[in-house]
Formats: sequence, structure tokens, C-alpha cells
Amino acid sequence: MNKPQETDFSIALSGNPNVGKSTLFNALTGLRQHTGNWTGKTVGLAFGGFEAKGKRFEVTDLPGAYSLSAFSGEEAVTRDYLQSKNYDCVVIVLDSGILERNLSFALQVLAIATKAVVCLNLYDESQKRGVIIDEKTLSKELGAPVVKTCATKKQGLKELKNAVYGVCSGKIKCNTEKNMYSISSESYEQISSSLSKRCREICAVCQSLEKDNSFDIKNRRIDRLLTSKAFGIPAMLCLFGLLFWITAIGANYPSELLSLVFGNIKQGLYRAFEILNVDPFFTGLLIDGVYTTLSWVVAVMLPPMAIFFPLFSLVEDSGYLPRIAFNLDKFFSKCGAHGKQSLTMAMGIGCNACGVTGCRILENRRDRLTAILTNNIMPCNGRFPILIAMIMMFFAGSSFGLGSSVMTAALLLMIISGCVLFTLFVSKLLSLTILKSEKPSFALELPPYRKPQLLKTIISSIRDRTLFVLGRAVMVAAPAGAIIWLTANIYIGDFSILKYCTDFFDPLGRLMGLDGVIIMAFVLGFPANETVIPIIIMSYMASGTLVEYTSYEQLLSLFTSNGWTVTTAVCMIIFTVLHFPCSTTCLTIKKETGSHKWTLLSVIIPTALGIILCFLTSSVMRCFGF
Ligand code: GDP
Repeated sequence: MNKPQETDFSIALSGNPNVGKSTLFNALTGLRQHTGNWTGKTVGLAFGGFEAKGKRFEVTDLPGAYSLSAFSGEEAVTRDYLQSKNYDCVVIVLDSGILERNLSFALQVLAIATKAVVCLNLYDESQKRGVIIDEKTLSKELGAPVVKTCATKKQGLKELKNAVYGVCSGKIKCNTEKNMYSISSESYEQISSSLSKRCREICAVCQSLEKDNSFDIKNRRIDRLLTSKAFGIPAMLCLFGLLFWITAIGANYPSELLSLVFGNIKQGLYRAFEILNVDPFFTGLLIDGVYTTLSWVVAVMLPPMAIFFPLFSLVEDSGYLPRIAFNLDKFFSKCGAHGKQSLTMAMGIGCNACGVTGCRILENRRDRLTAILTNNIMPCNGRFPILIAMIMMFFAGSSFGLGSSVMTAALLLMIISGCVLFTLFVSKLLSLTILKSEKPSFALELPPYRKPQLLKTIISSIRDRTLFVLGRAVMVAAPAGAIIWLTANIYIGDFSILKYCTDFFDPLGRLMGLDGVIIMAFVLGFPANETVIPIIIMSYMASGTLVEYTSYEQLLSLFTSNGWTVTTAVCMIIFTVLHFPCSTTCLTIKKETGSHKWTLLSVIIPTALGIILCFLTSSVMRCFGF
């Protein structure tokens, strides 16, 4: 039996946001912290470990922070941890390309930590920028060993581990006492100017700059285009349009194939159950309930997610997301919100619960609440398949041709743009009412563009995002399938339980251009929206329509035979975007705000807006004869 591993030394990684701390943490520990080229994506602590020199090191990755003044939650976490002295050595990770700016944080950490190693990460990039750093001089100035690394290429890790071992074991002595810049929010103003002066002094003796800085020139050139008034937003729309198009065209074939395979397996299962003489009740429950719902979720969700998430991660890794925030900032500030909200919105496209947690990057409480309350307006990947299904069945046509995929992408882009506009509208509404206060200020760092690590990003995105979300959906889909089948097949008097429930919701559904089945599907889909369409299908099929749904055409005929029109599809799209957040997101909102009031409001606001908008849209569309 293996002896449990004991830790010999405990080390902490600290640094400004976006200095490659997560990449370094992953390279050291072999774990998989999320990485991305923009500021503020790491908001919590992460733990891991590695072995070196026969010793076991435990690593704590602290949230990225600009200072230890504890202005923000992340800074407070980092400062408290460093002050606790529950570690043997702190590794201060710096971006070598912008040393002067990063040194300010390093000096503050060195004022607290007596044992430290300074890691000059992104050294490959700083060389391209023409920044040359003399690490020996820097080490003398700071009183701690300095190591150059390139975390993405795992260069310098051995030297870093050796230095960490040396400091932890006492073989390397640090002399950090000369760094006396301990900052509190009260003394911030006075100390920060002398701190800046000291950073300049250090850089003057240990850093040299080559004149020809083609790296920055190239970056500025691209930025001039991508953040310009004329091209910024059109470029952004084109990029997302392209992502949606690739997703739409790429997802069609595998989806169709998976449906076909699952359909054949289903027939096989029926036969097997027949041979085994399984009771029809269990055949129905297991095949028609659990299996059918599961296969729908996998066939419909897996292909678009396996395409969209890796593409989105590549965009994230390239450094483009902050440019979106920059482009949209003026609209957000006009609506009393913060430009960084567009980053949390983008995170919401993947998963609203992640988007809500990401709202910690907003320092001001009011900005954070606005971002949290509106995050759910961005459709997460659980709702994407519903939107795609509606578009393909009712508007773009479900053939796999170029025209249909372009149309799907264009309509999807329109819906997402509509979501952004609605987010702005609700933010404005909040800023005029419950979140009334002064205008927020905007400060956002634009990181340099970086070539994404293609294969690594794709693999980690599929593994950590696609399969994770799919796993969660499948876990919810199986019991949901069983429950819905039971409610459809257990009768009280003349009607099934499902019929009683859908009848109950029917008047509200009709008022909104929908029906009782759809509303009920959203209610039952509270744990995960992925199950909404399978619930609708099963409810309709239980009421007598015998249609097998291996394609959108068949699904369309099932829906139209149950009274769906273009109006129903439009209202379905509206309600998909505007309704209560899923249970995981609600729990996350409660955790992040610590308040039942804000959690309740985050449920009420989108739902009320969704009901009103569906009602108005369906009334207008009916007037026009749709
Ligand atoms: P964090 O916010 O400090 O955790 O930063 P990340 O680990 O997410 O890294 C930010 C970006 O820098 C990502 O795009 C990384 O791929 C990239 N990166 C990290 N370390 C290096 C490095 O040493 N060289 C280069 N060229 N890129 C790096």
C-alpha cells in the first residue's frame, strides 16, 4: 500500500493578474487551472503540489492582485494569506515585459514575506519587446533570488524549483527587510508615490530597452484597427458571426449522425427488453424516459459545444476579450454600468454560474450587482441548443447547405446582439432604480495579443468545459427523463399528472404565445435548461402523437401538430433568453451576494421581463396575422 504523501514545504504563487500565474501553476503541478489572456479571470484559490530534490512541495495559487491595499476581495484574500505566514516561501510571478509596473506589487509582497523567489515570467515575450533584464542585479536590489521563466514552454522551471528549494531549506538566504513598503488603504496615497520612485530606480539599474520595439508596434497597429470607432464593433460582429457559422455548419453532421446511432440503439434496446420479457412499465421508464432524454441531450448538445467552446477559448487566449470590453465601454457607461461587465457577459455565454463568479473582477459593489443581476440574459450553452433548434426549424431551414448555415449564424448573432442590448437596457433600469449611485470609472488593461496555444487550448477546453458541462447535463437529464415519463404515465382519474400540470400552466402559456407544456418544461428544466426540449417532446408524445425525432424536420412536424407557429417560436426564443436562472446559477448568486433579496431579484427581473415581452410580441404578431 502506498504511504500517503506528506508535504515538506508549502509555497504560494502570487502576482498581478495575467502574468501567467495559472500557466506556471499548471506547469509546476500538472493540474489544469483555467488560463486565458485577460485580466481577472482567476478569482479564487487553487491548490496543487510537485516534487523536487526528493521533497514534496504544496502550492497555493493566490488570486491575481495589483496591490496589497485590499481594495478588492482578491487583494484582501492575497494579503491575508501572505500575512498568515502559513508558507515556507512565496513565489512572486512578474511579467518581465512590464517590469516597472509589476515591481510595485513585488515590493509590497517582499515587505511582508521574508522568504521569497521572484519569477520573471513571459521572458520570451519581453525579449521580443526588446526588454533585457539583468537578474543578478535585480536579485541584489530585491534581496531575493530571481529566476527567468517561460511558463508556456516550461522553460526555467528546474531553476525555479531549485531556487524555491534553496529558500525553503534555508540554503539560500533572503534579505527582504530593505523593502519596507507595506501598504494599507489608508496610507495608499502617500506610499504609492515613493513606491513608484523605487520601482523606477530598480528598473534603471537592472533593465535595458532596445529601441526597435516591433512587438509593441505590431500590437498597437492591430489595436488601432480592432478598437477603432469604425471597425471595432463590425469586426467583433464578424468574428462572432464566424464562430456561430462554424458552430452551426460543423455541428449539423455529427448531430444527425449521433441521432441516427442513438435511434438504432434504441430499437436494439426495445428488442433486448422484449426478449428479456421486461415489464412494459420499466421499458417505458428506462427507454422512453431516461434513454430518450439522455440521447437527445448528448446528440444535440455535444457537437455545438465541442466546436464553440474551443473556438471561444482560442479567442480568450488571444487577448481579444478585453478589446470587446473596450469597444463596448461607452455603451455600458451610458447605461450606468462598467465596461468590464462585457467580460462577465462573455463568460456567461459558456455558463452563467461561471459568469456570476467572474463578476468578482468588478471592484465596485454596485457594478458587481448590476453584472450579476444581468448575467443570465446571455444564453449559456444549455440554452444555445434551444435557440439553434428554433432557428433551424422555423427560420433558416434544416438542410445542411451554405445558405441555411449562414442564416442560422446570422440569426444567432442577431439574438446575441439583442441579448447585449437587453443587458444594457436592464443595467440602465437598475442604475435608475434600485442601484442608483455615482457613475463608475473604467480602467481596463489591454494585454498584448498572444498566439493561442492551439492544441493545448482545444484539448483543455473540450475536457474542462465541453465534457464538464455535458456531464452535468447528462446527470440532470437522466432523472428528469424518468420524472417526466412517470408524470406522463401515472394517471389520477382520467388524466395523467403531466396533463394536470400543463393544464395549470396553459392559460399563462397562451397569454405569452406559448402553451402549458412549454412553461412546464421550463419549470422542470430549472436544474438544467438542456432538458427543456426533451421534456416538451415527451409531453407532446405522451399526449398521443407518435413521432420519432431523429431530425429537425420530424421535430418540426411534432411541434406544428401541437399548434406551434412562427409566433410560438419567436416567443420561445424570447423566453429562452429571458427567464429565471438555472438552479446552479441561483445558488452561485446567493453565494456571491450573500443575500436572498438579490437572488430573488435575479429570478424575478428576467422572468417578469420575459413574460411581458412574450405577451407584447405575441399580441403584435397575432395582430399581423402570424
Ligand atoms: P494569470 O492570469 O496570471 O493566471 O495568467 P495565465 O496563466 O492565464 O496566462 C495569461 C496568458 O499568458 C495566457 O494566454 C498564457 O498562455 C500566456 N502565458 C503565460 N506564461 C507565458 C510565457 O511564459 N510566455 C508566453 N509567451 N505566454 C505566456
